Amino acid sequence: MQEIISLSDIRKNYYLGKEPVPVLKGIELSILKNEYVALMGPSGSGKSTLMNILGCLDSPTSGSYILNGKNVSGMQDDELAKVRNEEIGFVFQQFNLLPRLTAWENVAVPLIYAGVGKKERTERAHEMLKQVGLGERAHHKPNEMSGGQCQRVAIARALINTPSLILADEPTGNLDSKTSIEIMELFGSIQAAGNTVILVTHEEDIAEHAKRIVRIKDGVVERDERTADRVLKTQ
Ligand code: ADP
Ligand code: MG
Repeated sequence: MQEIISLSDIRKNYYLGKEPVPVLKGIELSILKNEYVALMGPSGSGKSTLMNILGCLDSPTSGSYILNGKNVSGMQDDELAKVRNEEIGFVFQQFNLLPRLTAWENVAVPLIYAGVGKKERTERAHEMLKQVGLGERAHHKPNEMSGGQCQRVAIARALINTPSLILADEPTGNLDSKTSIEIMELFGSIQAAGNTVILVTHEEDIAEHAKRIVRIKDGVVERDERTADRVLKTQ
């Protein structure tokens, strides 16, 4: 299998005044195309920092990040933004939906930036909502939907541009455990359809739904293990 991500000696410092505070201290990680990975670690261990670097939302202080064969760690902001828009779908804990827009309009937002015409945007957004099991909710606004439904809309929005990498930072952090499992199964079916998925969770039984668990501690990868192969339930 081909590598999608290769991280070598990734370091990230934040600054307290002039004092550097190291958060990532030499992350080594290789992820293959079509993996489903859960990233775990104590609160404050740098999971979001690492996800933001993977998602080209932030740059490392040093180290190399190769994504799909391209060295993104050396890129300027505008090049980085292009990679982010074309290759990455990001899902957040708080869903980050636009409250005034309906479900399908939220899903279609990235297509506006990609210059896709209105008719095609409408069709593709409705189709994507069906794929995440929300065909019936296309015309509802976020405040007319449950947390799990809002997260499905956010996942549909992340998928709409057919990115090569789906990143989700604590996507189940605001959901009850039954809904969390449904969302993990949805990510499982997204992976089964050929995508690469990396998500953060701090719950062990949630992480078990992924195929590989990478644990970060003290700024480095502490453990990296594949979970037993399981038959994933598709929806
Ligand atoms: P996690 O997601 O694992 O909880 P984070 O990556 O959010 O951890 O944060 C790691 C550490 O870096 C924490 O100590 C946090 O306070 C600090 N940190 C995160 N973002 C910033 C920032 N923008 N400026 C300064 N410190 C930060
Ligand atoms: Mg975090």
